[in-house]
Amino acid sequence: MSRIYNFSSGPSMLPLPVLQEVAEKLVDFDQTGMSLIEMSHREKIYDGIHTETIALMRKIYEVPDDFHILFLQGGATMQFGMIPLAFLHKGSLADFIITGTWAQKAHADASVVGKTAVVWDGKSDNYARIPSQRELQFSPNATYVHLCTNETIQGIQWQYFPETNGIPIVADMSSDVLSRRIPWKKFGLIFAGTQKNLAPSGLAVVFVHRDFAARARTDLPAYLRYDLHIKENSLYNTPPTFVVWVMNVTLKWIQSIGGLDEIERLRDIKAEMIYAAIDESGGFYKTNIPKESRSKMNIVWRMGSDELEKKFVEEAKKEGFDGLKGHRSVGGLRASIYNAMPIEGVKALVDFMRHFQHRYG
Ligand SMILES: *Cc1c(COP(=O)(O)O)cnc(C)c1O
Repeated sequence: MSRIYNFSSGPSMLPLPVLQEVAEKLVDFDQTGMSLIEMSHREKIYDGIHTETIALMRKIYEVPDDFHILFLQGGATMQFGMIPLAFLHKGSLADFIITGTWAQKAHADASVVGKTAVVWDGKSDNYARIPSQRELQFSPNATYVHLCTNETIQGIQWQYFPETNGIPIVADMSSDVLSRRIPWKKFGLIFAGTQKNLAPSGLAVVFVHRDFAARARTDLPAYLRYDLHIKENSLYNTPPTFVVWVMNVTLKWIQSIGGLDEIERLRDIKAEMIYAAIDESGGFYKTNIPKESRSKMNIVWRMGSDELEKKFVEEAKKEGFDGLKGHRSVGGLRASIYNAMPIEGVKALVDFMRHFQHRYG
């Protein structure tokens, strides 16, 4: 077996021990004579995995008891529509902070459904930075403030969570979920697609405060009703049982390496290694993102020419590094270094970057 270093932005690499455990149990789950993915979601075994996954998430992520944890299909994108449908009742208003592609998409969907206000838009800087607290003036009557904590495509990340005068924050944390401690009090709802830091694609994990959830509309089709998912413990209909199972194994892996403390420690070391390689390259690799806005999950950079960038991706691929091409909408390079990426992978990439510069710089 030879595994490469996969820097894909999502779906992205999973920890090897997680893949190995799932592979080992795939055909015959705990001597049941069948696979977990062949079992009814109403049976005891799946129910045990489901309930344990929620409990593990609560424990590892330090989710307070007044937050519900939901597993909802349709990924993060479904939440872009489902949240305004449920919470933007007639006459209410949501504030949006537009930091890049994903905040933009959420705003576009909410605008179809209800009234929105753009509090800040990073367009004039080409979405290269996160706003400071001073630049944010919220609408006094806003129902919630939407923001995206990590813009996966632009490579910028909130390193603080803004004061919003008590207005609940609704946050898209798809690409930095479970990579940092959360000041839960500021949030009404947090959602994240599973395919970056948690599991394969197919779900969004939603953390919703009890009081915020109580405001959700109930006169909606069943699957769009938060109250129903809360009541049914995310088992209103058939969940993607495979995704929940892999998430369960991933959460146990996080626990086994030392939990959120260790995740945060490794995260900082990995991100600093790549940013150092960029900053110390004398302009061969470059980023115009200020230090206080740089993402620790998705690191983007440019090089002198499109040809050089293309060559970098090609040669990297030959050396066993995949997924380094920047998103098609912005170009350049991007290394996504989620929780599953080992330090050795980042070390190898940084070595490659230095060698490449030596040859072509
Ligand atoms: C990947 C991503 C999404 C989209 O997730 P889907 O599960 O494909 O809907 C939304 N927001 C952010 C920040 C992302 O990184």
